[in-house]
Amino acid sequence: MLNTLLTIINRNADGILVVDEDGVIRFVNPAAAALFGQQPRDLVGEFFGFPLIGGETAEINLLTHGTGELVAVEMRVVEIDWVDGRAYLASLRDISERRQAQADIALRNRLIEASGSGIFITSVEDDARPMIYANPAMTAITGFGTSDLLAMDCRFLWQCNPDDAQNQALDRALLDGSPASAAIECERANGASYWAEVHLTPIRDQGNRQLTHFIGVLHDITDRMYLDAERIERERISVALEKERELRALKDRFLTMMSHELRTPLALIRLAHDMLRQYGDKASEEERLQYLDSIRTQVEHLTDILGDVMTVSRGDSGEAEFSPEIVDLITYCRDIVEQFQISYIKTHVIAFKCNRSVIKAPVDRKLLRRALTNLLSNAIKYSPDGSMVRFTLAALDGEAVITIQDQGIGITDEDMERLFEPFHRGRNVETVPGTGLGLTIVQQAVRAHGGTIAVESKVGKGTTFKLTLPMVEVRGRG
Ligand code: ATP
Ligand code: MG
Repeated sequence: MLNTLLTIINRNADGILVVDEDGVIRFVNPAAAALFGQQPRDLVGEFFGFPLIGGETAEINLLTHGTGELVAVEMRVVEIDWVDGRAYLASLRDISERRQAQADIALRNRLIEASGSGIFITSVEDDARPMIYANPAMTAITGFGTSDLLAMDCRFLWQCNPDDAQNQALDRALLDGSPASAAIECERANGASYWAEVHLTPIRDQGNRQLTHFIGVLHDITDRMYLDAERIERERISVALEKERELRALKDRFLTMMSHELRTPLALIRLAHDMLRQYGDKASEEERLQYLDSIRTQVEHLTDILGDVMTVSRGDSGEAEFSPEIVDLITYCRDIVEQFQISYIKTHVIAFKCNRSVIKAPVDRKLLRRALTNLLSNAIKYSPDGSMVRFTLAALDGEAVITIQDQGIGITDEDMERLFEPFHRGRNVETVPGTGLGLTIVQQAVRAHGGTIAVESKVGKGTTFKLTLPMVEVRGRG
């Protein structure tokens, strides 16, 4: 029996120590000796050094022999009868881990208390979600005192606008036990509204994974929202102003074009009319026909300009018509080039080249003809007489590639940026007539075909326009 008792004492995880009334250690079990970092026999007979009061519990720091470390120990003391009188039985338990954990928790608590973000804990009771903790920032943000907050269901934070989708998402997460984040409009205790970002994280019981709590974090983002709203408004105004400036510039360019380009044909019509009226009866039949032809040509020219203006404005509003059919591009392009060559036989050489025998593409014949006609007419009118214009058609990586290259006046870098804007004309066009609408129409046509347009130019050397159009793959190389 005695042996059994000794075994129990010696194996006990807690240290057991007997100290007599003079403070001398009379018995030490191995667990207690281990706390001192010594053997029991080295301790028996030594002076214990800590005051002992029967029935009391105290926390002491023991110096571990050898390592010099301090071990936090909880000591419970009872008075007992010992062989030669009264003594104290001290039960010692190492609480250093517990102390460390407490220190960690205290640090975390201070952190949560000092946080500028509102932090709250909500417990899960049936359908209610009462707050059981709210840090001081929650009070600062919401304006409610801690005791008020603790009596509330956390949903009061976002209940001021129950139909809002973000608020409903938070409600759903609270019932489902899922995490959620939302930016919501809330109301402070004084009725003032504010914006908050809320993050909800569900907490589950470690053992049975039961949902027990939610941790909520609340950031006041009112300033940010106002700044964002101001920024968006500023951007909106500046976009509107920019649009207005553009419209004004467009109008100016339109009026400039109209006064330049309408004046000449109108003057020529007027001249022909006056000649016919004044000298009509004296003029020969041939002269009369010349005046009439001149009137007709100028009227056609005016009709073309109006047609271009209409095309551009229709294209701008996305109403342009596009009816593609599969076209043999080689024949189609060669025809256009040949017609140009006939008209400009005296001034330019237009060379046509193609690297395939078949290139087929879905093309709106009328639309693409207008685009190519404008590019060819630009190449001719902006290059000196006697120079060459090269028209090349190729097939490359599933695309038809058309390049029109001239040896003309070129385009300055400044004009390059605005080349496709309606009514924009280069600063180096001098007296060459034009409305500045041709390239706008080219661009609209190429876009309608799902293609691209690129320009390369050197002032005084020449310009190359390159169009790519999606083509129909024909088996085998041509
Ligand atoms: P139009 O509406 O009668 O075609 P335009 O030729 O002036 O008038 P665009 O075809 O849109 O108008 O061309 C816009 C401007 O781009 C021209 O005014 C000219 O400055 C420049 N440009 C276009 N093509 C060439 C080119 N091949 N060489 C040099 N400049 C060119
Ligand atoms: Mg043109």
